[in-house]
Amino acid sequence: MKRAEKAEKIFSILNGLYPKPPIPLDHQDAYTLLVAVLLSAQCTDERVNKVTPGLFKKASSPQAMAKLSVEDILESIRSCGLAPTKAKNIHKLSQTLVAEYKGCVPNELELLEALPGVGHKTASVVMSQAFGVPAFPVDTHIFRNARRWGLSRGKNVNHVEKDLKKVFPKEVWNKVHLQIIYFGREYCPARSHNPVDCPICSWAGIKSILVAEKKPKQKKA
Ligand code: SF4
Repeated sequence: MKRAEKAEKIFSILNGLYPKPPIPLDHQDAYTLLVAVLLSAQCTDERVNKVTPGLFKKASSPQAMAKLSVEDILESIRSCGLAPTKAKNIHKLSQTLVAEYKGCVPNELELLEALPGVGHKTASVVMSQAFGVPAFPVDTHIFRNARRWGLSRGKNVNHVEKDLKKVFPKEVWNKVHLQIIYFGREYCPARSHNPVDCPICSWAGIKSILVAEKKPKQKKA
């Protein structure tokens, strides 16, 4: 079966499971989403949603955030992973938004990627979820599922992103990327998955992938 046909079938299963996948990070606008996505690196969405209300109470705009000290920001986000670096980046990117973009979040991928602490994945999430521009941010769930389902053999996120953009129509990228994340969290952990009861891999066409997965373990990098 061709990758595109497989992707179509997977999308129809995901549509049955997650017809309207919500955006997992709580936010009020593009700026608060940008900060929340930045915080979500090496941290769960649940944890981020716990810390952002306190942070946004102190400052919910680039202007207000730029006026806080890094220590003040750090105090609100301390329970997130990599908090000291994130606090510095939130402060710096807020200053940049005020100085260069009149306090607005730019809706261009390249401009977002140039902001402090903002990489390709964060920028893609903001393009997709704040501005509705088709993007395919690849997180750990998407990376794992794309390879397990045989939609990509990519060894890095850039390669997997390229392959997924080829097999799913552009108009569904924003929806399907969220659906795969929800599916990955619910059904497809890194270990102890159950292929027989799994809504996607129990489908015969994908069993070969699971067999392929059982090949001898590779040495740790
Ligand atoms: S069987 Fe395993 S690999 Fe396949 S989708 Fe289900 S949980 Fe993921």
